[in-house]
Amino acid sequence: MEKLQAVRGMNDVLPADSSKWEFFEATVTRVARQYGYRNMRAPIVEYTPLFVRSIGEVTDIVEKEMYSFEDKLNGEKLTLRPELTAGLVRAAVEANLTYNGPVRIYTLGEVFRHERPQKGRYRQFNQFDVECFGFDGPDVDAEIMILTARIWRELGIDDVRLEINSLGGLDERAAYRAKLIAHYEANLPALDDEAKRRLHTNPMRILDSKVASVIEVNQTAPVLLDSLQDESRAHFEGLQQLLREANVPFIVNPRIVRGMDYYNRTAFEFVTDRFGSPLTVCGGGRYDGLFEQLGGKPTPAIGFGMGVERVLMMLDDSTPVATLDAYIVHAGEAAQKKASALAETLRDAGLAVAQHGGGGSFKSQMKKADVSGARYALVIGDNEVAVGTVAVKPLRDGNGAAIQGEQAIITSSAVAAHLRA
Ligand code: ATP
Ligand code: MG
Repeated sequence: MEKLQAVRGMNDVLPADSSKWEFFEATVTRVARQYGYRNMRAPIVEYTPLFVRSIGEVTDIVEKEMYSFEDKLNGEKLTLRPELTAGLVRAAVEANLTYNGPVRIYTLGEVFRHERPQKGRYRQFNQFDVECFGFDGPDVDAEIMILTARIWRELGIDDVRLEINSLGGLDERAAYRAKLIAHYEANLPALDDEAKRRLHTNPMRILDSKVASVIEVNQTAPVLLDSLQDESRAHFEGLQQLLREANVPFIVNPRIVRGMDYYNRTAFEFVTDRFGSPLTVCGGGRYDGLFEQLGGKPTPAIGFGMGVERVLMMLDDSTPVATLDAYIVHAGEAAQKKASALAETLRDAGLAVAQHGGGGSFKSQMKKADVSGARYALVIGDNEVAVGTVAVKPLRDGNGAAIQGEQAIITSSAVAAHLRA
């Protein structure tokens, strides 16, 4: 039979790689909780208009990256979520989540974009997301950046830099838009077809172009920061003040625009140069108008999405691996019964224990115990059953390095304490 393969751009995480994932997930979850954020989850599939309306019709994501399809069973038009914010806001509006006041939430999940797969760019990837609903900032803007800085520290990553910008409000963007269009009209020959097409529908998207000649024109484009009015300017300066007080280094990058239309005011990215050209590992911003746009009450909000695969690329191989405390080797029917009972008793005591499955000689079972990475092999044969003991053989130290230790014969009831010592 022909072998089946994973869909292009969608990756499996095999057991050998999953320790990094678990380490990442445990770290971000712990830090988010430390700041008082609560977990929330929304479906992977939503009605297509949710994304079109929130992300914006004239954006890369909506124009060419969404997995949209018709449910053959009922004709509904559905889309695999290309980002997490829209679904969470839809859910928050539906549940009237901010009825009793603002809420801070985090979530982890898969997102889907039909892009050209390459290192750090996949068609199914994962994001860690933080969202603050009902806060107008800039205190909470600073908070999510401070939280992210802590995540980098706890992950042991020290080569990401924070870049911030302000995208202003609707009025400021309208004024800026006119200046921007004038700039592009003066440089029309350098624009590719896509940029030309977006010139009058969504000129700010051209700032995000990856086409060389357009990037050049963007170097001299007017920047939105210069069009900011008092309120937005005060917000932006307040944010910078708070970051300085928290000792979170940042630079102002007036060229950050972000890929979705819902952003306003604060926009930010964490960028690394580790892989040659700059790579954004985390991006976010304010979206004060999104709740209303999706039929909710006016609710100022801010959030970010962190690309999990890109962060994992930055973790070295010293990531702590989940280890087994013991691997139980046994032969004979009575020994198997005793092994099963002992394994459960040890698990009751909070230890991680694998029981050998599938039979085989003591020698072959000891080999399995070795490759399992367990700290100890627990050996049970007829003899041990008869006298109520277990042979305990040390295999590895706490760091997973192989050791040659003396085997100890101890009573079954003392095994848990022995493994703990
Ligand atoms: P890029 O400019 O690299 O395309 P983006 O602006 O489209 O990124 P966002 O929509 O802000 O990215 O998503 C947040 C984060 O998700 C990014 O900073 C990145 O780390 C990650 N990310 C985005 N697209 C992909 C992808 N196709 N594969 C893996 N990670 C991705
Ligand atoms: Mg993109």
